[in-house]
Amino acid sequence: MLDERRGVSRFDEDGVERAIYALLLAVGEDPAREGLADTPRRVARMYRELFAGLREDPGSVLDTVFAESYDDVVLVRDISVYSVCEHHLLPFFGKAHVAYHPKDRRITGLSKLARLVDGVARRPQVQERLTAEVADTLMASLRPRGVLVAVEAEHLCMAMRGVEKPGTTTLTIQSRGTMAVGTAERQETLRRLGW
Ligand SMILES: [Zn+2]
Repeated sequence: MLDERRGVSRFDEDGVERAIYALLLAVGEDPAREGLADTPRRVARMYRELFAGLREDPGSVLDTVFAESYDDVVLVRDISVYSVCEHHLLPFFGKAHVAYHPKDRRITGLSKLARLVDGVARRPQVQERLTAEVADTLMASLRPRGVLVAVEAEHLCMAMRGVEKPGTTTLTIQSRGTMAVGTAERQETLRRLGW
């Protein structure tokens, strides 16, 4: 699936630049005026970065595992997350918390969990799918006993437009295996997160 995705996700920087130029014209701006002259190129370079996850296999960061006899939940809190809502192409941002319970001594680097979140976030997303994709990728790649991923984020499409409710945060939780819904380990992990 990921190889297919790589195949269809060549980043066409010139195409994005042309599209931004056309967008500025279409909203009634003058794309030739001084302040906007370089904007299409800048935005195209920015989108290459913001959507870099489309051209990555997010699970590949978990390829390196360490053997440690640690048998409890590892919980990494407050990983900053920046993504772009696919309905409005506006940012949503906040914190991700990633917990896993290792199996057969397989431990991953703590920074790898942050890179996994980045890889999944850097593409047009919805928060619910982002949360599930982090959980499922971690389960498939590291094969732990269980996983819990929680994301708290503010969506600019809620703040700047539509219902205009700044300060609203959305919490999404996905858990698998020994931390699946209804388990004591899920309750204990949520308690450790302060919920
Ligand atoms: Zn939105």
